[in-house]
Amino acid sequence: MFRCSRCGLCCRNIDKVPELKEFDAGNGVCIHLTEDNMCDIYSFRPDICNVDKMFEIRYKDFFTREEYERLNEEGCKSLQMNIK
Ligand code: SF4
Ligand code: SF4
Repeated sequence: MFRCSRCGLCCRNIDKVPELKEFDAGNGVCIHLTEDNMCDIYSFRPDICNVDKMFEIRYKDFFTREEYERLNEEGCKSLQMNIK
């Protein structure tokens, strides 16, 4: 199971995500990220922000669930290591 630590880094680095271009505050931070790292449109967030939905609609034919979750976790770790 994919575990999100709610570090908020994915939502602070959306400048390279075309699907979220309209949400970029101009510094790579999503306009919907709250001060406590929550999403203020969580129930209506874009598909690209929804790990489970993206697996179903885009990645399930290419990866097992375990592989996909591991790749997501590696992406999170990469973001977290880049800020240290
Ligand atoms: S970078 Fe990963 S761990 Fe951090 S909030 Fe985003 S999904 Fe969660
Ligand atoms: S819409 Fe929500 S989940 Fe998506 S990047 Fe913005 S704050 Fe994060």
